Amino acid sequence: MSTIQTQTVEAVVVGAGMVGMTLAHALAGAGIEVAVVDRADPTKFTDAAFDGRTTAIATGSANVLQGIGLWPTLAPKSCPIDTIRVSDGDSLMFMHFDHREVGDDPMGYILENRDIRASLLAAAVASTNIEMIAPARIAAVSRNTVGVSVKFDDGREIRARVIFACDGRGSSMRQAARIPVTEWRYDQSSFVCTIAHERPHQNIAHERFLPGGPFAILPMRDPDTPIDGSAGPLRHAASIVWSESNDLVPAIKGLTDEAFTAELAQRVGGFLGEIALASPRWVHPLGLSHAARYTDQRLALVGDAAHGIHPIAGQGLNMGIRDVAALAEVVVDARRLGRDIGDPDILADYERWRRFDNMLLAVVTDNLLRLFSNDIAPVRVARDLGLGIVNAIPAARKFSMRHAMGVVGDLPRLVRGEAL
Ligand SMILES: Cc1cc2nc3c(=O)[nH]c(=O)nc-3n(C[C@H](O)[C@H](O)[C@H](O)COP(=O)(O)OP(=O)(O)OC[C@H]3O[C@@H](n4cnc5c(N)ncnc54)[C@H](O)[C@@H]3O)c2cc1C
Repeated sequence: MSTIQTQTVEAVVVGAGMVGMTLAHALAGAGIEVAVVDRADPTKFTDAAFDGRTTAIATGSANVLQGIGLWPTLAPKSCPIDTIRVSDGDSLMFMHFDHREVGDDPMGYILENRDIRASLLAAAVASTNIEMIAPARIAAVSRNTVGVSVKFDDGREIRARVIFACDGRGSSMRQAARIPVTEWRYDQSSFVCTIAHERPHQNIAHERFLPGGPFAILPMRDPDTPIDGSAGPLRHAASIVWSESNDLVPAIKGLTDEAFTAELAQRVGGFLGEIALASPRWVHPLGLSHAARYTDQRLALVGDAAHGIHPIAGQGLNMGIRDVAALAEVVVDARRLGRDIGDPDILADYERWRRFDNMLLAVVTDNLLRLFSNDIAPVRVARDLGLGIVNAIPAARKFSMRHAMGVVGDLPRLVRGEAL
């Protein structure tokens, strides 16, 4: 912990979540001095009980993690997604996306959030351009035409040219800047856990649309220590994201582990053989949020502070990582030209680049969710036809796959796998 009372850096990142830390690394790697502030203690982010989620990292996001130097640590912990299979309840119509149709790369990777957080933190501790100020309570923030100041309740102060708000959905930086946000809650929550299972998953991710909400089975790397099951050691692992109607959430929460596992087994089906619960269970309420603008004087919103979506398509963090790549690019390019990195024109370039894309994806996921969380017979027939049609047309399949891989559109250099 620094003992300096007033310190000057170039940028303050508020929020040491996966987005804030990725941004800090992208900037620091280009020689920009960054202070990362969090009210929580980041060393706790990797505790077993803190965040049991996995993230489907799209190929484009893996490129960004490679670009900031973290992929060599993360790759051995990741499980490639070679195939995605989307089905609608017990309907015979489905979509089957095989990565070989679009190239050699997998469609993405499943990583445990705690592994991503651990490697971001270890690299930050080793970086001479990143100062972690956490846990710390922000007492006051001021922004004016020449710079920003962040004061803490212990008397310390950080001065910088700009604040990047990566402080999540409830962003206090966004609220303080009076940036309006469109938001609503879904009538669903996601149960998240890890299962051990008997038969290999073959790197296939499954998304099943059930009436209560989508049910995802995401392939994980085989655990180091198999779990004992009645059929023998269960050597394989998958992450479950079970979204369910809020009416049923209290009852499901109250189930014993045995009863919960029986409910899971029914939804998973028999293709993985015997399954067993291999982690605590977490519940996440779900909602959509989108900020009316991403910038204010010497302030830019990034990641969930700017937009939050339903995990139906596994894209929330991927959107945040694309924000990071775009923001880092406009900031680093401007700095190379000797410009002030908090200049409103630079922040506006970032907003123009990212806001429309994010809004589009938020609308698409919202519509997808409404379409599939609906048990009205004609709607079911129409959407099953849609699944069948997309599955039957190679061009439509490839288009969907490239989107899921995050390699479509006006891509920042880091997402394209190029140096910043
Ligand atoms: C069940 C579930 C499954 C998901 N699966 C996927 C997936 O497969 N793929 C995908 O791309 N996305 C997925 N997501 C979305 C993804 O998890 C989020 O988009 C992502 O974690 C957002 O990261 P963030 O860093 O922007 O925000 P957060 O993780 O919310 O981090 C915000 C940080 O800011 C700090 N903070 C907040 N307020 C303050 C303050 N006032 N002062 C200082 N610090 C502050 C917090 O302590 C926190 O550390 C999923 C989400 C859910 C709920």
